[in-house]
Amino acid sequence: MHLPDLTAKRAELHPNRVALVDPERGREITYAALEERASRLAGHLRTEWRIEPGDRIATLAHNRTDAVELLFACAKTGAVLVPLNWRLAQAELEFILADAEVVGLVHDTANAPMARTLQVTAKGARGAIRLLSFDDEYEAALDAASGRQVVHEPREESALWYLMYTSGTTGRPKGVLQTAGMALVNHLNIGMAAGITFEDVFLSVLPQFHTGGWNLYTLPMLFVGGTAIIPSGFDAGQSLRLLQDRASVFFGVPTIYQMLVEHPDFAAADLSRVRSWSAGGAAMPVPLLERLADAGVSVQQGMGMTETGPTVFLLDEEHAISKAGSVGKPQPFVDVRLVDSRGRDIAPGESGELLIRGPGVTPGYWRNPEATEQAFEDGWLHSGDVGRQDEDGFFYIVDRVKDMYISGGENVYPAEVEAVIHRLPGVRSCAVIGVADERWGEVGRAVVEVEPGAGLDEEAVRRHCREHLAGFKVPASVRMVAELPRNATGKVLKHVLRHQQGEPE
Ligand code: ATP
Ligand code: MG
Repeated sequence: MHLPDLTAKRAELHPNRVALVDPERGREITYAALEERASRLAGHLRTEWRIEPGDRIATLAHNRTDAVELLFACAKTGAVLVPLNWRLAQAELEFILADAEVVGLVHDTANAPMARTLQVTAKGARGAIRLLSFDDEYEAALDAASGRQVVHEPREESALWYLMYTSGTTGRPKGVLQTAGMALVNHLNIGMAAGITFEDVFLSVLPQFHTGGWNLYTLPMLFVGGTAIIPSGFDAGQSLRLLQDRASVFFGVPTIYQMLVEHPDFAAADLSRVRSWSAGGAAMPVPLLERLADAGVSVQQGMGMTETGPTVFLLDEEHAISKAGSVGKPQPFVDVRLVDSRGRDIAPGESGELLIRGPGVTPGYWRNPEATEQAFEDGWLHSGDVGRQDEDGFFYIVDRVKDMYISGGENVYPAEVEAVIHRLPGVRSCAVIGVADERWGEVGRAVVEVEPGAGLDEEAVRRHCREHLAGFKVPASVRMVAELPRNATGKVLKHVLRHQQGEPE
């Protein structure tokens, strides 16, 4: 199947609809302007940077509407966008730049010093890495360029569009190939499920260096000709205002919802305009879901991964409370299986590794045949997640395969223990890790982030666990910390936590 030049098509069909809103600069970009600007940028990249199809262009910037123009300029020139996580350290960025062999780097003012350092320390595909500043040079480059220099060739759905590095929750981030077809399949899966239309306005707050920043639901919104508001990042107060005044669709990871409900303006905000709320990326704590439901916010939940473009499962609002804790059922264009350690399919009720297959799944990892070979078997992606299915066909993400530990011969999934500890009033967040123990092989250690002044102690946490969990699941020790180590989407970095706790990673 050939894929169209999306911005050109949209500009032809309805040029005057608003595609993008930059609330901080007070700018609205119509589909006609998006097409014009993306074409000019493509012209600049072709003539000034001599971009050839397949070349990689990195970004190091906070979220911005210009990055959407750049993504579509990449589609027009056949270049591959590599959004970099600006929270990474210099050495990590150098690793990715070398791995991706980029031609150039587009950055904002906040990241200009790092971009200039990287230009010196990292080697580009063609000598020195070229730089372009979104804030200082971008508009002039567009003004000077002509869009006529680039003729968009129709692209196969297998065409590589961008590289997305995984969140790095379990180790070093892996570069996942993202094709034009994957974005379309994601739209068919999730855009249709949420029923988004050209009348919708989506508030986009996930980072653009994360699959969610594009696919949940900025790209689906552009597929249907709707509007995406793109602030520079997530700010709870600003989001509440935009949700009250303009947006109709929202997606957040659990920590984002946590920050929304904790914001002083939450109680008084009128959020009735928003007709679709959804969450994913990590398990939504049930108390948080209940707190949102009390405020009239019913959240559709999903599970996905960078490798799957990302959506896999979806739990509709109808089952949000009756099946709380479940991620729902597989989306239309995805097949899943649960298998035991020998690869045999397991029965409902049992826990096993989740395998995923479908047209929205990545063809593999960037220049990493070993990782690709390890992850795929007969076309099925090994997700690294443990799942379970109930008698009604609803799926549950039990935990990561890597995080499970064995205590006295029994498998313990920390996520189950964490969910119980979450229910204890005064607990803000927690993480459980398995640590070596002479008697039991391994035992659990709970590391708990307590609300200030909650007065919780180790014994209170253990007592609560004893009331709700089998003895072998009760953490042998509890440590209180001010803050758990997290990545950009709020996931707890267990390998960093293990290190902090003096345990082998
Ligand atoms: P890395 O692969 O680098 O260790 P990561 O797996 O966290 O990082 P992502 O691709 O961003 O990187 O996240 C996908 C993972 O997030 C899934 O494999 C799953 O473990 C977790 N996840 C996503 N949605 C949910 C959910 N609704 N409930 C529980 N876990 C989820
Ligand atoms: Mg992963």
